[in-house]
Amino acid sequence: MTETTTRLLIIGPPGAGKGTQAAQIAERFGVPAISTGDIFRANIKGGTELGQQVQAIIERGELVPDSLTNEIVADRLAQADAAGGFLLDGYPRNVEQVHALDGMIEGDALDAVVLLEVDTDAVVARLLKRAELEGRADDTEEVIRHRQDVYAEQTAPLVELFSERGILVSVDGLGSVEEVAERIASGLDAQLAAKAGR
Ligand code: ADP
Repeated sequence: MTETTTRLLIIGPPGAGKGTQAAQIAERFGVPAISTGDIFRANIKGGTELGQQVQAIIERGELVPDSLTNEIVADRLAQADAAGGFLLDGYPRNVEQVHALDGMIEGDALDAVVLLEVDTDAVVARLLKRAELEGRADDTEEVIRHRQDVYAEQTAPLVELFSERGILVSVDGLGSVEEVAERIASGLDAQLAAKAGR
């Protein structure tokens, strides 16, 4: 068999360092990193109609409606560079989005889901620091705390679901970028090897 497609997700609370690790994983597997947050922020910056629709929602730390988010991901996954696989970052974020994604990649199940585990106090501190550096509108302390709550309520339950599917790779997200990248790499290698052997 010449199956070289790799379909991955990275999941974890806001501030866990998903974006940084996503770039490294994507490069390693030669697939595009697709971040819904980045897509929304690019549209806000560009002043597009989508950007105008989502700006206030994102600045409050709420989730963009599923219908809109699912459509954007479906369009992105239909692009040529995603045909050989992808790494999703920030999507799916609730059960409804998991079902939508299952429909989009019908028959081509995900190979692995990386969970970046970090404690809430550490991530809040990290995000407050990022606020100073990047000036993201949703990085005020109040909105950061709200995003953590939204994660706990809507996104954290997905971990159990992916665990039941046998594709979860849990990684300790505390440490240097390189240390965490190493843990992810060995966790993914083990998961993908086990899958190939099944
Ligand atoms: P973080 O992980 O730090 O919260 P993201 O860039 O992943 O940052 O997301 C920023 C914001 O973009 C979210 O708080 C939410 O408003 C919106 N967003 C991103 N992905 C989704 C999604 N899959 N569904 C709904 N809203 C989303």
